[in-house]
Amino acid sequence: MITRSPSLLHCSAPDEPDLPAPGGWQRQLAGAIRDPAELCRRLGLDASLVPGAEAGHSLFEVRVPEAFAARMRHADPQDPLLRQVLPLSDEQSTPSGYVTDPLQEAQHTARRGLIHKYAGRVLLITSPACAVNCRYCFRRHFPYQDNAPSRSQWDDTLDYLRDDVSLREAILSGGDPLAASDRQLSWLVERLDAISHLKRLRMHTRLPVVIPDRVDGPLLDWLGKTRLQKVMVLHINHANEIDDAVIRACQRLARSGVTLLNQSVILKGVNDSVDALEALSERLFEAGILPYYLHAFDPVVGAAHFDVSDQRADALVDELRTRLPGFLMPTLVREIPGEASKTPL
Ligand SMILES: *Cc1c(COP(=O)(O)O)cnc(C)c1O
Ligand code: SF4
Repeated sequence: MITRSPSLLHCSAPDEPDLPAPGGWQRQLAGAIRDPAELCRRLGLDASLVPGAEAGHSLFEVRVPEAFAARMRHADPQDPLLRQVLPLSDEQSTPSGYVTDPLQEAQHTARRGLIHKYAGRVLLITSPACAVNCRYCFRRHFPYQDNAPSRSQWDDTLDYLRDDVSLREAILSGGDPLAASDRQLSWLVERLDAISHLKRLRMHTRLPVVIPDRVDGPLLDWLGKTRLQKVMVLHINHANEIDDAVIRACQRLARSGVTLLNQSVILKGVNDSVDALEALSERLFEAGILPYYLHAFDPVVGAAHFDVSDQRADALVDELRTRLPGFLMPTLVREIPGEASKTPL
């Protein structure tokens, strides 16, 4: 009889049948498609899309891991996942009213990489990188290079958190915080853990969706150790983003005590229909995720082709409410600079 040596088993989660190989996500991330022509080829798209894609790419680089591309329909430029990541020549146009920092985050940067806008919670820019570059991202112009703190700069940030006893929650954001290594994350979370007035650790991340293998043993390891209550706010805009691998990743997170929520952005050509929003909420719940926010579109330069008016967003949500139970209804919000919270529309 062949017995497996116990050292081959991951000690923290021996009962996990489907744990991905530790660190495999990093290879997937490094191997992400970063060439617009390659993305078009991979999906069998018409070469006429390439020039616009190249131009957009020069403004904000293309990045699409294969695990995400695999959920797109072949040869369909209207695919709702593809639209989120494929640069179009439309990005060159800059209608008036579009700005590079629509949320005026620069004014709230209390320390390098720390944004304190709302009572009781602060947002920490934990990693400048994302697993996927979303064309509509309101942070596409964010000066991440200036905001990704080194370890010594973290000391300054941690002092800020220690000194403000009104804080209850630290929000790891980015970029995508889970693009940081588990070594860095466990270092940081250990220190947050030691700040006794903090109660919650929140993560705003798209990685478990884009590369479900991100939810591996080393991640579950540090998540399992913290005393803080854990909330993960995922970012999913369309039901097709949730495949079986995403569901299994969510199950691993839920078993580790993570509360799963989702925020979406309303995007023209992606999810601006009642059917799409209904399917999204239903599918989220199948994955054990509750809808949290539906963000009204922010007028960021280069993304005007995704714009859905507030009036239309309101009408969609009103009709959505006639189809779904209350707990599957996201709250339609906009971030208005200077307000003490996100503002429901
Ligand atoms: C959105 C945001 C938060 C979180 O707001 P909630 O309403 O608690 O989800 C916190 N800080 C900043 C800077 C934000 O932009
Ligand atoms: S994952 Fe989030 S932060 Fe990163 S590009 Fe997409 S929307 Fe922006």
